[in-house]
Amino acid sequence: MKTIEVRSSARCEMIDITRDVSRCVRESGVTDGIAYVFVPHTTAGITINENADPDVTRDLLFALERAVPNTGFYHIEGNSDAHAKATMTGFSGSVIVEGGRLALGTWQGIYFCEFDGPRRRRVLVRVLAG
Ligand code: ZN
Repeated sequence: MKTIEVRSSARCEMIDITRDVSRCVRESGVTDGIAYVFVPHTTAGITINENADPDVTRDLLFALERAVPNTGFYHIEGNSDAHAKATMTGFSGSVIVEGGRLALGTWQGIYFCEFDGPRRRRVLVRVLAG
């Protein structure tokens, strides 16, 4: 298992970790299989989406903010919106590995999604042959 260290710099932020995951794949020596990516946090998640136009990730954060405003919650910590947004993106993703490379689409990137930053975070990667 590999660990990617992520340092977010805003409360909500999408950080492209595609290169880090690719490096994990290279270091694993696995040429064909699955890269499994897991976020061990409750207020951050992971997703795959467009990496070409930065307005897309901006709009995704805007959409999540609009869907889950931080008002009217019970949780005493005051970050229930972050918990809800993390659940919406999910805490894991898997990408097919083919010929030693992630089989992502041309416009796809893997994003760590921070919803309660800035913080130091971890992403766990396991590359399985098969
Ligand atoms: Zn909380």
